[in-house]
Amino acid sequence: MTSNNPQTREWQALSSDHHLAPFSDFKQLKEKGPRIITHAKGVYLWDSEGHQILDGMAGLWCVAIGYGRDELADAASRQMRELPYYNLFFQTAHPPVLELAKAISDVAPEGMNHVFFTGSGSEGNDTMLRMVRHYWAIKGQPNKKVIISRKNGYHGSTVAGASLGGMTYMHEQGDLPIPGIVHIPQPYWFAEGGDMSPEEFGVWAANQLEEKILELGVDNVGAFIAEPIQGAGGVIVPPDSYWPRIKEILAKYDILFVADEVICGFGRTGEWFGSDFYDLKPHMMTIAKGLTSGYIPMGGLIVNDEVVAVLNEGGDFNHGFTYSGHPVAAAVALENLRILREEKIIERVRGETAPYLQKRLRELNDHPLVGEVRGVGLLGAIELVKDKATRARYEGRGVGMICRQFCFDNGLIMRAVGDTMIIAPPLVISKTEIDELVAKARKCLDLTLSALQG
Ligand SMILES: *Cc1c(COP(=O)(O)O)cnc(C)c1O
Repeated sequence: MTSNNPQTREWQALSSDHHLAPFSDFKQLKEKGPRIITHAKGVYLWDSEGHQILDGMAGLWCVAIGYGRDELADAASRQMRELPYYNLFFQTAHPPVLELAKAISDVAPEGMNHVFFTGSGSEGNDTMLRMVRHYWAIKGQPNKKVIISRKNGYHGSTVAGASLGGMTYMHEQGDLPIPGIVHIPQPYWFAEGGDMSPEEFGVWAANQLEEKILELGVDNVGAFIAEPIQGAGGVIVPPDSYWPRIKEILAKYDILFVADEVICGFGRTGEWFGSDFYDLKPHMMTIAKGLTSGYIPMGGLIVNDEVVAVLNEGGDFNHGFTYSGHPVAAAVALENLRILREEKIIERVRGETAPYLQKRLRELNDHPLVGEVRGVGLLGAIELVKDKATRARYEGRGVGMICRQFCFDNGLIMRAVGDTMIIAPPLVISKTEIDELVAKARKCLDLTLSALQG
């Protein structure tokens, strides 16, 4: 992408000379140069070449209320002037963190009334791992250390986060996972269901949890962590039989259940949390992303009353971050939650835009490249295949990346996970903008198919 615009070229040179980008091939990015995003409003981004792009990914699943809400900037500015920083380590607190903990408890599932704040989702999951082990130690069962997670789940990129996640390409770099974390198969029927029906496969995948608990011994298992709907793994909506069977298994064995709500939380499914959508009743929920709509970094762990009652007996919890409950982040999160509540954004997702997006997306099922369209709320996935009936892929052709590039070039951000195209637009997307998104997606599918045939 060599630009004629000198300003773009200058920024790309800075990138090449000085910046190491996350999840990127440094050398390849040097040669290609990043697209420079300069500003944004609502659901649209603009790049340094003047292109307007519909952001079908809400940044990275996070910009729930859309771009350009001055109220959040004002909240940050007010808080920075009043109290830009103070720590919470030594028996002090400040108003924004306390008010935010209450505001989150108000919208969290019943009995989930306590929040430990972090700077990110990854740190939320690190906190979870340490808190789970501390909890069982207080209960006199220090051997209950193992956390069961799922292959192709995503739980962040710190050492614990990447270990909890089930991304093999992440594990390969740096001897992960760390000990005490094991993975079971994911409920991804389209790719792994074989000849089973989705319902049969859902039960099979859930039963893997019970088998793993029995194999390890329940006395060694501390917790099971899962995303209600896997996001980064490819918007994997489990078959309807999956969560009910998991809940039966969890009820049978004495282990904690952690819902990683970093993507599903704060309205993505049309409910406040994915745990509300599937009625999951977790002990803990990891949060980040939509908590601040991405305007400022913040994550956390919501913990239920029962777990906190035990932690209260354990003395100091020797864990925390300099930026735990940062006052500016807390003030921004409070304002974000106020907007979500008062503008009834989640109600509108549930009642209007989610059903509309899901209906319009499914119209793409008639496209020759499309093997399945699925989604919940404002999450969607489009599986690209060579053969609809057998679900066979175009092996080795990089179809997802081809499609992603056409999207970029045609003013739509749609992400590719292998040959699965995924979307998660801002929660404020309108029906007209959904029409634009689907029309652009269809155009890019056509272009991808032509490229494959050409
Ligand atoms: C993004 C994500 C994380 C990690 O959050 P960071 O803020 O990037 O550390 C954890 N879990 C899920 C489900 C995520 O999507």
